[in-house]
Amino acid sequence: MKPTHIEHIGIAVKSLETAIPVYEKLFGLSCYAIEEVAEQKVKTAFFKVGQTKIELLESTDPEGPIGKFLEKKGEGVHHIAFAVDGLAETLTEMDAAGVKLVDKTPRKGAEGLNIAFIHPKETIGVLTELCEKPE
Ligand code: ZN
Repeated sequence: MKPTHIEHIGIAVKSLETAIPVYEKLFGLSCYAIEEVAEQKVKTAFFKVGQTKIELLESTDPEGPIGKFLEKKGEGVHHIAFAVDGLAETLTEMDAAGVKLVDKTPRKGAEGLNIAFIHPKETIGVLTELCEKPE
């Protein structure tokens, strides 16, 4: 597996309403999409920086993954996402090699991407997502 680029960096925030203007004012970026991913219990806001995006994540449920992260660690970087070609095959290869995966098969993430997470124990404490644009 060789990632083609960093697709996005996910940042957990308490409030999109507060966080969006920070990115807009400080970096002159504009938020181009806000999307709720009900399954993940998050509301996301996206900014483009070259071909990489910043994904702000606001929890919609304290029991969801971002809700728990905020409770434990507070606001900050939550995950890094690499773009890969052939996500399903990559996961099969990693699984066969004994890499601990959160998702052994791709699932749907924000922006219609197919995504999967690697267990942070495998990546020196950094939760890492792999994603692929569907054909
Ligand atoms: Zn992500």
